[in-house]
Amino acid sequence: MPFEALSVRGEYLDSDRFLQQRLDMVTLQLERRGIRSQQVLSVMRATPRHLFVPEDFIDRAYFDTPLPLAAASTISQPYIVAYMLEKLCLQDSDRVLEIGTGSGYQTALLAQLVAEVYSIEIEARLVKQAMKNLKQKDLQQEVGTLKNIQVKVGDGHLGWSEKAPFNKIIISAACNSIPRDLVAQLADGGRMILPLGSLPQYLVMLEKQGPHIETTELCAVSFVPLR
Ligand code: SAH
Repeated sequence: MPFEALSVRGEYLDSDRFLQQRLDMVTLQLERRGIRSQQVLSVMRATPRHLFVPEDFIDRAYFDTPLPLAAASTISQPYIVAYMLEKLCLQDSDRVLEIGTGSGYQTALLAQLVAEVYSIEIEARLVKQAMKNLKQKDLQQEVGTLKNIQVKVGDGHLGWSEKAPFNKIIISAACNSIPRDLVAQLADGGRMILPLGSLPQYLVMLEKQGPHIETTELCAVSFVPLR
């Protein structure tokens, strides 16, 4: 058999294997644990997570755990990603700010759920890799070209004032305190979700209604610290 035919066949088998793992991930890790948002479940079924994890971990891409990226970062556990996205009550028209691009996996999910995604990552080499991940042909084949994403290298504490206000803000690294600049960049009626504190660390939801800010503690979590 010519080499090309072999490699095409190999790719087919690989994608079938990952598809089954992905469907199982959604059923067993997300639906069974109470994720109900059909939009969130559907983008997590569609988005190949294995295209975002480092080569060495590709066989664990759909495991129920976070996985290591470069620069002591991690791609978050699928359940926690789904939980945060569901809690944000994302709308088609939303403009969303993401802090901690990491692999770009969550960025890709957001881009399929809302109008505009702005993502900030402090590690330049992760931004480079995330952009590469987001432009992969295999990803585009599954979810289409994601044209509504802007990524920059920077300190997420400061937000992205030129693009504010944001309807939703999602922070993927643990904060010592609620970043003031980000609260200022949140639109009226907007929601922000963030891991707060260390040992114990809690996921906190912040809702802005005019001058009033309401915060709700959701659950204990374990994220890498926001630097
Ligand atoms: N959501 C990502 C996982 C992010 S892990 C994914 O799906 O892959 C948290 C990320 O926050 C890490 O990549 C880390 O480098 C980044 N980070 C840490 N401190 C930061 C800061 N001050 N500003 C922006 N990004 C930061």
